[in-house]
Amino acid sequence: MNYKIAVIEGDGIGPEVCAAAVEVLKAVGEKFKRGFTFARALMGGAAIDACGLPLPEETVDVCKRSGAVLLGAVGGPKWEGLPGESRPEAGLLGIRKALGLYANIRPARLVNALKKTCPLRADIRDKGIDMIVVRELTGGIYFGKRNTVQRNPAGKTYAYDTEKYGVNEIRRIAEKAFEIAAKRKKKIVSVDKANVLDSSRLWRRTVHEMSAEYPDIEVADMLVDNAAMQLVKNPAQFDVILTSNMFGDILSDEAAMITGSIGILASASLGSGGRGLYEPIHGSAPDIAGQDKANPVAAILSAAMMLEISFGLGAEAAAAERAVNAVLERNIRTADIKEDGSRIVGCKEMGALIAEEIRR
Ligand code: NAD
Repeated sequence: MNYKIAVIEGDGIGPEVCAAAVEVLKAVGEKFKRGFTFARALMGGAAIDACGLPLPEETVDVCKRSGAVLLGAVGGPKWEGLPGESRPEAGLLGIRKALGLYANIRPARLVNALKKTCPLRADIRDKGIDMIVVRELTGGIYFGKRNTVQRNPAGKTYAYDTEKYGVNEIRRIAEKAFEIAAKRKKKIVSVDKANVLDSSRLWRRTVHEMSAEYPDIEVADMLVDNAAMQLVKNPAQFDVILTSNMFGDILSDEAAMITGSIGILASASLGSGGRGLYEPIHGSAPDIAGQDKANPVAAILSAAMMLEISFGLGAEAAAAERAVNAVLERNIRTADIKEDGSRIVGCKEMGALIAEEIRR
């Protein structure tokens, strides 16, 4: 079987971290005899410079012909003055839309070697953190009707935003959570605000109805304010968190940051079917771009997510994750996660060491 991967390096440190992730994927391919092929495509500032558009049609075609997309990051000061629809970030929204990616998946796992980067108390941290936040990405209050009304007849100015979810939108994101939970500990916490919001009550009812279709999976509800508290009080209780766009936006950042540095956090955006877009959660880091200082681990773990989710290659994904941990355990670090006594390496060397660990 051939596994086609579109690689969008993007801007800033994007090309550096993507190169490391591709090297690791090649090592996985050799070790497990998998035929990965890579098709490069332009997006963001690099595409604006090359052809005047943040998302050329050809890039959409390359992605649609691929089983998965690996993305570095887009944007940077060079393109900041451009109007909204011509900016590099428009490429990102455009590709999500073109590929119908409505589910954002963000794992938050505290790896042993980086325990010290966890800001939580040792007794809480030591119970372990290993969860996945499944966030609805294309609905809810970020896409609902909104307006600012300047001075209505009563002379008052007001603004509103609308949270709106349809049953189908809830079902398709919940389905992703059930599928992911089935491969993990079979436990979902569905986060809402059903004590106040109608949209949350429909969310809760729909998830409960669906849980009858997945009798092996335990579903519990949690109000979002409690979830925010529980994430820092007892994160070990969570395995899969299922939630709406806005709640997921906030909780996934909270969940991610209790596990440490931005340079190690991966994500996936999924639609129906197997194709997904995999990217580190960090941006293009213009301050360190081109200096071989970037941490490639987030991009490498994003590639590992791709192996598991889009290609169903669980053992291969686990091998990549193990290799990352093994190198970190040897206290080899990029500068952003250095500790006392670390050997500091650049982006290239970090990628090469992780690839070497896989080939062993
Ligand atoms: P950023 O994530 O690029 O950088 C924030 C800080 O974290 C910087 O100090 C940077 O050096 C550091 N950092 C980030 N990734 C790192 C890594 N892998 N290794 C080591 N250090 C790392 O966020 P920002 O500075 O707010 O944004 C810079 C540009 O990136 C902007 O143009 C923004 O629009 C864009 N951006 C793109 C994406 C994306 O493509 N998905 C996401 C966020 C920001």
